[in-house]
Amino acid sequence: MSNVLVFVEAKDGKASKAGLQALGAGAALAASLGGKCIALLAGNGLDAEAATLGAYGASRTLLASGEAFSKHSPDAMARLIANQAQAQGAAVVLASATSVGKDCMPRAAAMMKCGLASDIVELRAEGGKPVAVRPVFAGKARVTVQASGALFATLRPNVFATPARGGGSAPVEAVKVAFSLADLKAVVKEIVSGAAGKLDVAEAEIVCSGGRGMKDPAGEGKQNWANLEKLAATIGAAVGASRAVVDAGWRPHGEQVGQTGKTVSPKLYIAVAISGAIQHLAGMSGSKVIVAVNKDAQAPIFKVADYGIVGSAEDVLPALIEAFAAALKG
Ligand SMILES: Cc1cc2nc3c(=O)[nH]c(=O)nc-3n(C[C@H](O)[C@H](O)[C@H](O)COP(=O)(O)OP(=O)(O)OC[C@H]3O[C@@H](n4cnc5c(N)ncnc54)[C@H](O)[C@@H]3O)c2cc1C
Repeated sequence: MSNVLVFVEAKDGKASKAGLQALGAGAALAASLGGKCIALLAGNGLDAEAATLGAYGASRTLLASGEAFSKHSPDAMARLIANQAQAQGAAVVLASATSVGKDCMPRAAAMMKCGLASDIVELRAEGGKPVAVRPVFAGKARVTVQASGALFATLRPNVFATPARGGGSAPVEAVKVAFSLADLKAVVKEIVSGAAGKLDVAEAEIVCSGGRGMKDPAGEGKQNWANLEKLAATIGAAVGASRAVVDAGWRPHGEQVGQTGKTVSPKLYIAVAISGAIQHLAGMSGSKVIVAVNKDAQAPIFKVADYGIVGSAEDVLPALIEAFAAALKG
């Protein structure tokens, strides 16, 4: 059997963009393997959304709900994915390489005694077998992965196209969950959200990131950070940060881009006062267009930048805000 099971992440009653990208990639792979693409949704209040997934390539949608899915639970999701991988005889099991996917897919793969191809950027069939490609060594090389059993993989957000809503439809089946809240090893009691409506760097189409050269937002860097926020708001971007900034406590860890932060692949990445260390590049060099602002013309970030501006954040950020605001108004 060559069925592809896709765990479609959902938030606030809607499938996430990264989840739909995984579904689109799964549907394309299933078509090349001659199998079916089965979507898996978990959560309460998702009935209406589940009914739409056929329009994005699912041939069936499985919906798991109940108390075990009332709050984010990596344990519950992992058990669900593993159970359904087995029940559906899936040859490929996909999810997004987001915080949620990174949390539950390794557990699900381990439960099935399978390996995991994480953060993949290419997915195809070769000789009737699924093949995944993932960057290694901080993006310096790529490996092609084939699995001896089922291929478990997480897909890097924004690398695979978001499928357009088509005219298809797919039946929704309720999944019988064989465990309850009491069976779970850990239960999330409370979720403290960040600022409402804030774009996630991993999913945003435009990211503006600041580095150590922006200086302390509680001191002399206050205006720089206010300007970066303003630039982001002007062009509909998410704010990102280097690790130096996060380690200094200037920005939350959720905004960190790089090897030990999030991997981003936006259409436009603006790096301000970031030197371009290899660990930072590992998280953003897949961006379609990179703009770097740095006062040091020799900064390594310019080697990967499509456009480089040699200048200080203090001078360049206000000029960018003004130019974008004027261009977008016209
Ligand atoms: C195991 C490991 C994992 C790591 N993971 C990550 C990761 O996930 N993400 C990450 O980012 N880093 C990571 N790092 C750290 C990484 O090596 C760098 O230390 C870090 O990226 C540097 O951050 P930065 O570019 O903001 O600071 P710096 O390297 O200090 O660069 C600051 C830059 O700002 C410029 N500048 C100064 N003032 C101004 C100004 N007024 N206007 C314009 N430009 C100015 C300077 O010319 C300089 O280029 C990791 C390191 C290790 C060892």
